[in-house]
Amino acid sequence: MGVDHRRLVPRTDVVLSDPRLQAAAARLGRQAVKAAVLAAQGRARAGEIEAAAVADAAVAALPAGMRAVLNATGVVLHTNLGRAALSPAAVDAVVGAAGHTDVELDLRSGKRARRGRDVLAALAAAVPDAGAVHVVNNGAAALVLAATALAAGREIIVSRGEMVEIGDGFRLPDLLASTGARLREVGTTNRTSIADYANAAGPETGFILKVHPSNFVIRGFTRSTDISEMSGLGVPVVADIGSGLLHPDPLLPDEPDAATTLRAGAGLVIASGDKLLGGPQSGLLLGDAALIERLRRHPLARALRVDKLTLAALHATVAGPPTPTWQALRADAGELRDRTEALRARLGFGEVVAATAVVGGGGAPELELPSWALALPAEWAAPLREGEPPVVGRVERGRLLLDLRCVPPAADTPLTEAIRATAQAQRKAPAEGPACTS
Ligand SMILES: *Cc1c(COP(=O)(O)O)cnc(C)c1O
Repeated sequence: MGVDHRRLVPRTDVVLSDPRLQAAAARLGRQAVKAAVLAAQGRARAGEIEAAAVADAAVAALPAGMRAVLNATGVVLHTNLGRAALSPAAVDAVVGAAGHTDVELDLRSGKRARRGRDVLAALAAAVPDAGAVHVVNNGAAALVLAATALAAGREIIVSRGEMVEIGDGFRLPDLLASTGARLREVGTTNRTSIADYANAAGPETGFILKVHPSNFVIRGFTRSTDISEMSGLGVPVVADIGSGLLHPDPLLPDEPDAATTLRAGAGLVIASGDKLLGGPQSGLLLGDAALIERLRRHPLARALRVDKLTLAALHATVAGPPTPTWQALRADAGELRDRTEALRARLGFGEVVAATAVVGGGGAPELELPSWALALPAEWAAPLREGEPPVVGRVERGRLLLDLRCVPPAADTPLTEAIRATAQAQRKAPAEGPACTS
């Protein structure tokens, strides 16, 4: 009763001297931090929070921005976690390109140069079967550009078995129709033959689209047509291979690759840069030089142009050392087990269990990677997600599993600390709460 909240509220400069808020000011600017402090002081004056909690409330109200997380899900390409993690070389390239760069300038002649020429050259060198290469914002943008430039007002022939949804409610047929191209569906869900394509191909055809079912499998009485057959029909074949493998990968026998697909006769290959290729979000177009030139010259190409940071990261991905995606796919199960045992030994709790990792949204829907995980109580999933660093695992049969396959070994210490902090908080909470009432 009668407490004068106003007198107890700490002064703005005192709150601002809190080291957390000083660090935030360097990151977010003094204005944003001061605004958070003023708001927290206002809440204290109104009696909503304790005067002593003003600094904490200001810290909590600061805009967080995107946070780096430890991916302990065992899903190598997790869409909600940003798909592929960039290699250290790609990260360096992004930092190096952050300021002014020669992205469109030839430093020798002082004249304008082709944007992204290094990465285009690296992709062309990696896939000699491609007459030319173009890069846009993502796989969907590559499809839209191809459909607009090659088939607007005309037909795209596509099998009914390949009318796929790529995630979050986005469906390829809708995307293609939005460009003004007409979809000419052929065949059935389970079977489409070369005759189906041949009957539909004609003067109205912009191209035949072949879509790799990258996130599902149809089994049983099925039939699909090879690109080598389709390429004989006298119309361009555009192959959306999805994952961005440039060459065959023995680990992923069911995933198509750009080189093989072009050699089979595709005029154009479309792929994402941030799936199995392991690079930044981007859409790759590789293929016939005349087709690529039509895409490059189309007005829409300018709207789908990639940023210099993407070009830098993609170049370092294609020309540089193995990516974290590549490494995670090949992580040795025995070594993962040793790391998980070591983590358990450091913590002194948890159980080491066999687990199964997967590629995820980026492709190879059937591939199972034998892995190991640390099993913890399922109730720890939320506090670990909100910890520092945030740790994202997966809950399976009533337990939280932390799979180290996609956690870089260098992060084992912060991971240990995050789990320890959560364990302490969790042990305290039940002891003070319901446990006393029983
Ligand atoms: C992932 C995928 C897309 C979409 O690519 P984004 O890079 O996510 O835009 C299109 N087609 C196939 C077959 C895919 O697997």
